[in-house]
Amino acid sequence: MPGPTLLNWMIQRRESMLADLATLVVFESPSRDKAVLDPYATMLAGRFEALGGNVKLIDNPAGGNHVDAWFYREGDLPPALVLAHFDTVWPLGTVVDRPFRVDGPRAYGPGSYDMKASIILFETALAAFQALGLTPRRPIHVLVTSDEEIGSPTSRAHIEAAARECAHALVLEPPLPGGLLKTARKGVGGFTVEIEGKAAHAGVEPEKGISAINELALQIPRINALANPSVGTTINVGLISGGTTPNVVPAQAMARVDVRVATMDEARRLEHAFRGLHALTPGASVNVSGGINRPPMERTTASRELFERTRQIGRSLGLELDEGSTGGGSDGNFTAALGVATLDGLGVPGAGAHALNEHILIDSLPERAALLACLLLEL
Ligand SMILES: [Zn+2]
Repeated sequence: MPGPTLLNWMIQRRESMLADLATLVVFESPSRDKAVLDPYATMLAGRFEALGGNVKLIDNPAGGNHVDAWFYREGDLPPALVLAHFDTVWPLGTVVDRPFRVDGPRAYGPGSYDMKASIILFETALAAFQALGLTPRRPIHVLVTSDEEIGSPTSRAHIEAAARECAHALVLEPPLPGGLLKTARKGVGGFTVEIEGKAAHAGVEPEKGISAINELALQIPRINALANPSVGTTINVGLISGGTTPNVVPAQAMARVDVRVATMDEARRLEHAFRGLHALTPGASVNVSGGINRPPMERTTASRELFERTRQIGRSLGLELDEGSTGGGSDGNFTAALGVATLDGLGVPGAGAHALNEHILIDSLPERAALLACLLLEL
């Protein structure tokens, strides 16, 4: 069992992992900026090739290119699928205001925790295999995508195709607070509720108008009533708009709603209920679009087993790993929905995803790199 050897090797690489993380952070990569995402993907492809990968760039006219790579492909077992993303929620120029910096035990920077440090873990695991002459149990198929933070519109099909032929999926999103791995995630959806009424002069003949805003106000309590927090279903009417000017009865109004569900049953219930919304004001109409984007990642027997084996492997490295669930979605939702054993949260402990204090805990880099390496060697 090479765990302690790997961990020692990783500990000696702590400073170079940090330097590599700085490189990945200062090269910015907002989800909607193809002009910087494409060169980023090319840079990662070069780094993976240097580690022995068989790398392909997935050309993506509708967004940034994605990186698709295989390592140790000669085995005949189904591969381990590793999922990561290199896009961040931060606009270009964020590193000018908040540069990469180390402060005591923490390394700060936009995208450091979510999830550029995770890419470093993967690279370091592969470097360790080369340096120590180790061979992973299965072929490794890795997808590093450019659009996770906007719901993976262009990478989803690639992720699902890869998931259909893999043994299990290891998702390198950041862990929960305390370093907990993620074995369940809520499903995420969004609905747009559009109301159509009829415009009229508010002073001359208001009785000829149909207020879309009044109708929307009637719909909102009905929408909120679809929540059922006791089974994990939450609803947020997060944005409303409507009307044109105060002296016109408003002909249009609109609400955008975020929904979270823990189970497929609840996902189906909400889809049905939203489609069933109908106008309460005579003459008004309601049009609903949208749906569940990421299906819930439910705990299954296979994902429990995957976690239990991971926990044992963690113990061989002196790590006491625990599991938890989150309301946020990731690409692990897609693999889990296909029945693939999925373990998420394998990134580097830290805090502040999508927040100004985003950082990782530097001492966790070697531990988590060793954990990922051991999972690739043994699972
Ligand atoms: Zn992420």
